[in-house]
Amino acid sequence: MAKSRIFIVEDEEDITTLLHYHLTREGYSVSTAAHGEDAIKQIPNQMPNLVLLDLMLPGLDGLEVCRALKQSSKTVGIPIIMLTAKGEESDIVAGLELGADDYVTKPFSIKVLIARVRSLLRRRRNPPADTEATIQTHDLVINPGRHEVLLKGKRLDMTFSELRILHFLASRPGWVMTREQIVDAVRGTDYAVTDRAVDVQIVGIRKKLAQRADYIETVRGVGYRFKE
Ligand code: CA
Repeated sequence: MAKSRIFIVEDEEDITTLLHYHLTREGYSVSTAAHGEDAIKQIPNQMPNLVLLDLMLPGLDGLEVCRALKQSSKTVGIPIIMLTAKGEESDIVAGLELGADDYVTKPFSIKVLIARVRSLLRRRRNPPADTEATIQTHDLVINPGRHEVLLKGKRLDMTFSELRILHFLASRPGWVMTREQIVDAVRGTDYAVTDRAVDVQIVGIRKKLAQRADYIETVRGVGYRFKE
């Protein structure tokens, strides 16, 4: 099998060196750029399988790089993991909404980062279920066609919006979804769900999941994630 190619955009040399060393040892082929401008030039030529993108870059910053990559039809499909600092929640939200797939907060453990890389490359090979597919995960069965949620075989009484939100999150376990992404996923159905209403819906879903409420994790300042 061909090596997966990872492109690192990071201006801090010691982090680049560390990542380069460990990712190469894991069997990935690694390229790097220290500047956003350089990254935007090189990535469309190299077409890596995944980009690790630092948000705080001199000149063109990470969010602008993310926007440029997601605006081009050539590079839109390349998954991006953002490298962020603590306290950059609003940038994380912006990046996720621009189409970045995941993020890791510095200082990160190299083990965690490699696990995220692996998981994202794997997810890319298994695209998420469509909006009508039945999802079976942990002890939950979510069947949108029959408008049915079963927990350990027992039917839970969910509203239409609750079921849609639960289905959307459960179709991508481990992915952090911003409120806006959740709204977008549920929109197009007849129900108007606003940003803030998402929080209310989540409270309702958790209440019904009862002892399994922790299947839906809150990611502070960013959004929600279904337990992997
Ligand atoms: Ca930086």
